[in-house]
Amino acid sequence: MRALPKSLWAATATPPASYPPLRGHVKADCVIVGGGFTGLSTALHLAERGIDAVLVEANEPGWGASGRNGGQVIPGLKLDPSELRAKYGEERGRRLTTTVGATADLVFDLIARHHIDCDGRRSGWIQGAPGPKGLAQVRRRAEDWLAERADVAVLERGEVEARTGSNAYVGAFLDRRGGTVQPLSYARGLARAAAAAGARIHSDSPALALERVGQYWKLITPAGAVTASHAVLCTNGYSDQLWPGLSETVIPVLSSVVATEPLSDNLRKVILPGREGVSETRRVLNWFSVDGKWRVVFGGRTHQQETDDPRAFGAVVNRLTSAFPILGEPRIEFRWAGYVALTTDHVPHLNELAPNLFAGLGYNGRGVAMSTMMGKLLAERVAGTRAQDIPLPTTTLTRIPFHGWRATGIALAIGWKRLQDRINP
Ligand SMILES: Cc1cc2nc3c(=O)[nH]c(=O)nc-3n(C[C@H](O)[C@H](O)[C@H](O)COP(=O)(O)OP(=O)(O)OC[C@H]3O[C@@H](n4cnc5c(N)ncnc54)[C@H](O)[C@@H]3O)c2cc1C
Repeated sequence: MRALPKSLWAATATPPASYPPLRGHVKADCVIVGGGFTGLSTALHLAERGIDAVLVEANEPGWGASGRNGGQVIPGLKLDPSELRAKYGEERGRRLTTTVGATADLVFDLIARHHIDCDGRRSGWIQGAPGPKGLAQVRRRAEDWLAERADVAVLERGEVEARTGSNAYVGAFLDRRGGTVQPLSYARGLARAAAAAGARIHSDSPALALERVGQYWKLITPAGAVTASHAVLCTNGYSDQLWPGLSETVIPVLSSVVATEPLSDNLRKVILPGREGVSETRRVLNWFSVDGKWRVVFGGRTHQQETDDPRAFGAVVNRLTSAFPILGEPRIEFRWAGYVALTTDHVPHLNELAPNLFAGLGYNGRGVAMSTMMGKLLAERVAGTRAQDIPLPTTTLTRIPFHGWRATGIALAIGWKRLQDRINP
């Protein structure tokens, strides 16, 4: 079992409950692999329907991206409502818009309903535009969502600066449906809620093999096995070779994060006084928020290796100080990184891999809210809802070509996108 990275979230989360490794051969209606938001939400929604679920996690709940992310609860997808209608047709596009527009509602409802202690705040989400191209994009986005009667707005330059404390943006999209959570505490709270509803959760239980035995799926771990009529794979950017080709359906990209020491009382009045989550329209974007003690949590793309060596975080710190010159030379208390799973079509995938075997993954850096919704949709599929009645279209496994060359491809793509960000912000 691998320890959690030494992140701000690991240092400040609610204590974990203890989930024993799977021992012996057990039976269930559904076996779930992966204890991030996707797997935990699937387990919770199945258990609430009275469906017997066993979840196996190689490490501990929240160990993957779910316990390392920026904690920004972002409604919607990268594609806006009109783009969803263009891609999926009028009827499907509308249903999908309703679903993805409700992802933040689901997160905050679960937090309230299960009394999850995770510093959840519906403080809004801001997407800052660094230049004219970004500004046009946020205006279009706001128009699109306003037509859906969503609680969104455009912020002009002075308003973004007043809310964020940064003058890096010429305008922004404000989505009042969004907010922030302490992500590891949210994952642990979902695990507690799922276990309380009857799901059986096992840490330190890597799934080693998954095979079809008659009408059932048999999943093998080092000290046990689960036989179930249904199986759901929720391993996202940490997918291994358990199901051939699944890891090649997404591009795992490392995202690095730093957290400063708590801000002074004066700076708290300037930097995110309303505690919104902030991201950008840049192609290679930065994102930031403040935690409960007003530490600035700032992340973005840097290196290609997972390390806590401070030298590897120099570029992120430079971007933090150029967004907030007022910070001077900030003291960095925490550094960590995690894998974001990208898809080439910019939408998450609900894959049907084989009869009664599903996978949900590929949130493109917007997974806190969407993976929670994905878990609900996966539970509906397992419970017997037909594919056509689920708003997110079901897909089959499609490998990304030249996946083995992804490190080179990512480096080239990022260099090219950074150049475009400079030329046409
Ligand atoms: C640095 C960073 C910042 C981000 N910021 C944001 C943000 O602010 N807002 C937002 O919406 N999204 C953000 N994201 C994305 C978001 O965190 C993810 O989309 C979301 O957490 C995905 O959850 P998941 O459950 O699908 O995957 P994960 O949380 O990665 O969970 C997968 C789990 O599967 C387990 N696993 C893998 N293989 C096996 C196996 N064989 N057997 C058993 N277990 C296995 C792993 O141990 C892991 O715990 C960020 C991601 C990163 C990395």
